[in-house]
Amino acid sequence: MNVTDDKTIVKDYFNSTGFDRWRRIYGDGEVNKVQLDIRNGHQQTVDAVISWLTADNNLAGMSICDAGCGVGSLSIPLAQAGAKVYASDISDKMVEEAKERALNTLGQGENPTFAVQDLETLSGSYHTVICLDVLIHYPQDKAAEMISHLCSLSQSRLILSFAPKTFALSILKKIGSFFPGPSKATRAYLHREADVVKILESNGFSVQRQSMTKTSFYFSRLLEANRHS
Ligand code: SAM
Repeated sequence: MNVTDDKTIVKDYFNSTGFDRWRRIYGDGEVNKVQLDIRNGHQQTVDAVISWLTADNNLAGMSICDAGCGVGSLSIPLAQAGAKVYASDISDKMVEEAKERALNTLGQGENPTFAVQDLETLSGSYHTVICLDVLIHYPQDKAAEMISHLCSLSQSRLILSFAPKTFALSILKKIGSFFPGPSKATRAYLHREADVVKILESNGFSVQRQSMTKTSFYFSRLLEANRHS
């Protein structure tokens, strides 16, 4: 399977069965036990990012690119905390849902701005670029290109999360629950932390803060990298 195929499959998935599944996981309605575990794990990752950013005490007016924003789980609270958020996602269904949630939560539709766009074609320059739980959908070579592109959009900082290869054995046993049913065809790719760090460094970034969320069905390594001065 080539890279274009991966991207088309991911996009189609998040506009169909994946949309229904993840909209529920990233919501507050009733879900099954596995989905609840993933919901809680993902929320821990989102909370970790928010706590890092609020601890710095300079969020007001900061430009943030949320690449692969999903239903806005991170973009909405960041906008609420005063950041200027540019959110985008490859799936128009996810973006539509994110816009609706933002309007309901924030009572305005100006910030975040939401766009249907894949992160490879994003342009512009942002203080901070964030990409949570997107790399799991892409193989190593494609992920390397994506990380390098995200670095080029960032003036100061890049925050990334990915499923680490260290947990390969345990995650492989449970991989079926990420993409159940017919959409199992959508693969989940794990990434070696050393590879990710090397790509960040080759783009002039070094890791400052890190965190790991591990529940029964959710694994996510979170890295914050800053551009060398
Ligand atoms: N970052 C969000 C969060 O943590 O709440 C959503 C994570 S969800 C597991 C993955 C998201 O990445 C989906 O909304 C999907 O449509 C999006 N996505 C996948 N490939 C993408 C790409 N190449 N460019 C932009 N978005 C992409």
